[in-house]
Amino acid sequence: MTVDLDPVRRISRPGSPISSPIGPGTVPEPTPSPLALLLLGRDADPASERGVACPGELPAASDPTLVERARAAKQALGDRLFVLGHHYQRDEVIAFADVTGDSFKLAQQAAARPAAEFIVFCGVHFMAESADILTSPEQAVILPDLAAGCSMADMATGEQVDEIWDVLADAGVADVTVPVSYMNSSAAIKAFTGRHGGTICTSSNAKRALDWAFDPDGGRGEKVLFLPDQHLGRNTAVLEMGMSLDDCVLVDPHKPNGGLTVEQIRNAKMLLWKGHCSVHGRFSLDSVADVRARVPGIRVLVHPECRHEVVTAADEVGSTEYIIRAVEAAPPGTAWAIGTELNLVQRLAKAHPEQTIVFLDRTVCFCSTMNRIDLPHLVWTLESLAAGEVVNRITVDPQTSAHARAALDQMLALP
Ligand code: SF4
Repeated sequence: MTVDLDPVRRISRPGSPISSPIGPGTVPEPTPSPLALLLLGRDADPASERGVACPGELPAASDPTLVERARAAKQALGDRLFVLGHHYQRDEVIAFADVTGDSFKLAQQAAARPAAEFIVFCGVHFMAESADILTSPEQAVILPDLAAGCSMADMATGEQVDEIWDVLADAGVADVTVPVSYMNSSAAIKAFTGRHGGTICTSSNAKRALDWAFDPDGGRGEKVLFLPDQHLGRNTAVLEMGMSLDDCVLVDPHKPNGGLTVEQIRNAKMLLWKGHCSVHGRFSLDSVADVRARVPGIRVLVHPECRHEVVTAADEVGSTEYIIRAVEAAPPGTAWAIGTELNLVQRLAKAHPEQTIVFLDRTVCFCSTMNRIDLPHLVWTLESLAAGEVVNRITVDPQTSAHARAALDQMLALP
């Protein structure tokens, strides 16, 4: 039996935030993941890892008291502490999260806790930056492992984007181009976006952001520079906005003039930054064909960070929150092949034994940087805070923060 939340295959529309049933309350006892990690990005995308070693004494991963130590430190900190857990985190970390969610929901949750002195963000670097931008200077946002970066966010630097903006200015189109940046970007990119009158978007509201950007009464743009995920930009433009693939061009920051001629720049409606997610980029048409052959009648559900041909071949496309809602709403017996990060897919499979839930690819594929935050790092962070030492604080400078905040506020004001 299958379920269809929407008769039209689509990228999910924004809806009211939901609490995931696979959050902290339903993970009975945290245990380290038994699966070996495939460390994506270590060779293919060297820029994805920040290479920052832990500045303190990490407890051994084999220490049998880790769970007890984390509980004790969390209890000692009480209401001074708020722990955020991204959906892609390990079970052993999610078990200690006060709230789980995607990057935007977690940033909102951080902003909604002004009394919390310490926000421990179990996610990646750009998420902690966003939380710092949205919280007060008195609150400390902490990333348990500073090496937890994001390969996609690292694919666009402030300097590169400024250079490309100059290229657009030379082509005479900067004045009619609106930057739209995915939440999965650094504070510097969000600040660039704010400085140039653009908006941030998430995978849930990318269409609304593009509608606004092209609206004569909104962003007033004739073109959009979409950063840094080419796939989300292309999938939204083509599948939801009715544009053609020819309306989209790829801006390669490693080539002179982005690898484009002036004519290409002037003719394009969507200027897509050449960035991608190392995890979602692994799913292929072969993955889809393979799972359909193995499990007849299976529904393929993928994240819009997947490649265009994969999204086109899927049955449903949607954000992380959409994927969770789709599985929750499905009747028993539904079979799903899910194309997103493996920790989430494994938790969905555990929480819904009445359904058949498989990972879209045969290869074990975690987000390697997200997985850097493990129980030893969490214990070290919590015990340091309980002992009065603030470690691994993430701060965004006031000027960057102000411009980035303008772009985030524009997203919150999207019609
Ligand atoms: S899953 Fe992809 S976009 Fe998300 S944090 Fe990992 S590398 Fe970045």
